[in-house]
Amino acid sequence: MLRTTESLGRVRVAFTDRHGGVTTGPQGSLDLGRTDADPASARENFDRVRRRLGLRRVVAMHQVHGPDVHLVTPDDAAAWPEQGHLGDSVPGQARLPVVDALVAPDLSAVGPVALCVRVADCLPVLLADPVTGAVGAVHAGRVGLLAGVLPAAAAALRALGAGALTAWIGPHVCAACYEVPATMQVEAVAALPALAAETSWGTPSLDLGAAAAAQLTAEGVAVRRVGGCTRTDPDLHSHRRDGARSGRLAGLVWVT
Ligand SMILES: [Zn+2]
Repeated sequence: MLRTTESLGRVRVAFTDRHGGVTTGPQGSLDLGRTDADPASARENFDRVRRRLGLRRVVAMHQVHGPDVHLVTPDDAAAWPEQGHLGDSVPGQARLPVVDALVAPDLSAVGPVALCVRVADCLPVLLADPVTGAVGAVHAGRVGLLAGVLPAAAAALRALGAGALTAWIGPHVCAACYEVPATMQVEAVAALPALAAETSWGTPSLDLGAAAAAQLTAEGVAVRRVGGCTRTDPDLHSHRRDGARSGRLAGLVWVT
């Protein structure tokens, strides 16, 4: 169920793997995506993760590969439905914020509330300042990195008073696996040089993790890279490997 868990002061982070859920088929078994074929399975999968981690609420987002950041206030978190992470796939539930980054001040007074990012090859990036209790969850693929979603999230956390920020870059498709057309590589590397890489079979690729680390380091953020490569690890969900029906893993960050 859990690929990686780490603590830093009051901050807890977790990245899930693909095991321990109830979804059948290529998305199985622990699919935490909004697009799980069966809403009941999606609900049960998330409930299992919440129980395991002791989380009451999980604030998620409708990710669109953009640079926008949504602020989750303590009032928002207190009003967030206990199944709100499922979004409007469940009748009567609130719509998810349409963004690729969530940030929040210290939510510990509202109970254990996590911010959540969902991925299958893109980067799940969790951010936190254990002193102020400010946290962030970011979805960063090639498009989001180039759009600047990570510096935007770091700036939003600084605006909340965060000082020494740490980022956890979770499981994603590695540079040795992430082949792209040569023209795409040239354009991307011109904008973000740290993206330059080559696959294990000698063709142009992009190093999303290195580029994210470079962007975060430039923002004064300490970076931890955890979790491995989604495409080559059968214990993780991968869109590149499993296609349009691949499941999603989640990155979760909260303050105790
Ligand atoms: Zn790989």
